Amino acid sequence: MAELLKGLAVSNKIKEDLMPEIKALKEQGIRPCLAILRIGERADDLAYERGIEKSFSKPGIGIKKFLLEEEVSQKEVLNTIAEINEDDGLQGALLFRPFPKHLNDDVIRNSLSVKKDLDGISDLAMAGIFTGSRDVFPPCTAEACLELLRFYGIPLEGKKVAVIGRSLVIGKPVSMMLLSENATVTICHSRTENLREICKSSDVVLAAVGRAEMIDASYASENTVFIDVGINVNEAGNLVGDINFEEVEPVVQAISPVPRGVGSVTTSILARHLIKACKEINKNNK
Ligand code: NAP
Repeated sequence: MAELLKGLAVSNKIKEDLMPEIKALKEQGIRPCLAILRIGERADDLAYERGIEKSFSKPGIGIKKFLLEEEVSQKEVLNTIAEINEDDGLQGALLFRPFPKHLNDDVIRNSLSVKKDLDGISDLAMAGIFTGSRDVFPPCTAEACLELLRFYGIPLEGKKVAVIGRSLVIGKPVSMMLLSENATVTICHSRTENLREICKSSDVVLAAVGRAEMIDASYASENTVFIDVGINVNEAGNLVGDINFEEVEPVVQAISPVPRGVGSVTTSILARHLIKACKEINKNNK
């Protein structure tokens, strides 16, 4: 049986480590508060929002929601982000994406101050991830993958890692972060040849594809660790990852489940980013 890389223990540890930092900030009169910008009522945005509220309530982190109608104008969105940028009581922000099609994603995501860009969506943040800067925040999900591997003591240095997916949300940033950990990274995508062989000969496979249970036992070998980033609904209406858990789990060394894997770590990383932003502001104000 494979080792199960569950997210809850990782998430609890992150929050436990943050508690003294939050206490110290509050003693200095700083109340960490996250801005959430949600446009419309997409089910996955609402689910993520509830997850953040649940995760932030115990450590006492504030949330201020900016809720806009689906038909909102570009100008109104930019005005709202300007308001977030200028509000010293909001140290960081999360903008739920994708935005409705009539809005310009590039303009909107780049209007958020990089100091408050807790999910690494702006070009400046992405550039920082590629240059290895510690002054920007990487996407929370990408960092959650690294944190999961670190927590369970899975070595990366010198190891072969296959990342399936090359999106700016997960595939590319997580590949750069793995490279910074001295892994040898193969970035795979829909045109990759011999994907099965690449996966079978890798020490770690990270699937960020968005195709329900695409990765079956034919991609797996006994010494491989599988990290599943995918969040999909299968034909039976169940929430599943990109990896066929039933098939792959008996074959491999370790695997992260969906749900209760990477996704459970993401909101704690968001909290950690917010606290880091608070500390930065506090340092600069001294
Ligand atoms: P995306 O933008 O659609 O990118 C998917 C990537 O998978 C693309 O690079 C695509 O290749 C590649 N791909 C598609 N079919 C493939 C195939 N048959 N073989 C190999 N590669 C293939 O998706 P995303 O935004 O990166 O998200 C990926 C998954 O992660 C989704 O399920 C999403 O819901 C999930 N996700 C989870 C979290 C979390 O907190 N756990 C957060 C964000 C996203 P091409 O570039 O060639 O098209």
